[in-house]
Amino acid sequence: MTISQLARSIAESPTFALNEEARILREKGEPVINLGIGEPKNKAPITAILSSAAKLSGGDIKYTPPDGTPSLKKAILRYTEENYDKLAAPENVIVSAGAKQSLFNILFTILNPQDEVIILAPYWVSYPEMVKMVYGIPVIVTPEDGSFHPRMEDIERATSSYTKAIIVNSPNNPSGELFRDEFLAQVVDFCERRKIYLIMDDIYHKLVFDGRKATPAYQFTNKDLESSMIIVVNGVSKLYGMTGFRIGWVVAPRKLAQVMYNVQAQTTSCPSVVLQAAAEGALTGMQSMVENLRLTFENNRNVTIQELRSFSGVKVSKPGGTFYCLPDFRAYCPSSVAKDSAELSRFLLKKALVVTVPGNEFGMEGHLRLSFAGSVKDIITAVERIKWALDPNSPNEIYIGDRKLVRDWL
Ligand code: PMP
Repeated sequence: MTISQLARSIAESPTFALNEEARILREKGEPVINLGIGEPKNKAPITAILSSAAKLSGGDIKYTPPDGTPSLKKAILRYTEENYDKLAAPENVIVSAGAKQSLFNILFTILNPQDEVIILAPYWVSYPEMVKMVYGIPVIVTPEDGSFHPRMEDIERATSSYTKAIIVNSPNNPSGELFRDEFLAQVVDFCERRKIYLIMDDIYHKLVFDGRKATPAYQFTNKDLESSMIIVVNGVSKLYGMTGFRIGWVVAPRKLAQVMYNVQAQTTSCPSVVLQAAAEGALTGMQSMVENLRLTFENNRNVTIQELRSFSGVKVSKPGGTFYCLPDFRAYCPSSVAKDSAELSRFLLKKALVVTVPGNEFGMEGHLRLSFAGSVKDIITAVERIKWALDPNSPNEIYIGDRKLVRDWL
């Protein structure tokens, strides 16, 4: 069996792999707590359900235009106007099967082989793999000051004549960091001057805490949509907790959107009409659930940080948004229980039945990503279990489910 070199080089998605491991353990009756996957627990908005159900019961389930139904695009244009203060035209919008596909289509559309894309660490695991899939080269920029906030001088140093794009994700998966406006202003200016695409992955842009806001990148340029280098990606997955509906979109200059239209027409034809109807229902329905989700995550963030800060070996910076944090576990890896974050994550799953994602997957060795999208009870119990497994100062007995366990490895 021959498999292409390129396909072979693509890493397995660690979050899906961990999720599968957790599912198998849970099926065996193990009381696993999953802090791995990033998925809100809410039910889909009723307007999304009704609108897709109406489409289904009408029975007219056919292809749509490759870039999405006119009515969903209209709802996206309204969303863009209301949330980005930007008037876009239907020709600027391409709807895809999730923001993931949107990002892939953008990269496929703008990169020649060997072109470079700047990715800011810590980064979402899929960016480097997607860049590689279209024969591009991911260039990882890590803040030299050890923080999670990128610095313009590091980006400038990493830029070459091959740099085609910079991907910015704020608030950020995996750190939860909300980037400062002055940084965004600098990066927008830099991209406009150097003719480098600025891909804004805004999938978490409404999930921001402490009364702050994610300022739209458009605000930092005088250029109109057609001449700007800004491309915005968004979707319903995190906004409404509709991960399974698989609808995302891009707002981009028309010239780029036209090519993305062709790319999508030749690969998937179009996203499902039923799921587009659901996204339209969510976008045009009551928006209070977005705020409810945001408030839940802000409360969960507070609990998570409080619990982690009572853990002497762990350092954690407070996320400004999303439902993730990326605490520093370097006091425990390398250590006698784990040589690195991947081993530590495996150790915690085995001993404490808690799923975490190792920081090396996000370009931050020594850290673990914890999702606080679940319940407060899960968060408190999971941190207590992690503490038991790692901290010699914590009590050495614990109940996991109905089993009493004794720590005998520290
Ligand atoms: N970007 C980031 C930063 C994400 O975390 C995710 C989902 N985990 C996506 C994009 C993809 O979202 P979607 O479900 O719309 O494909």
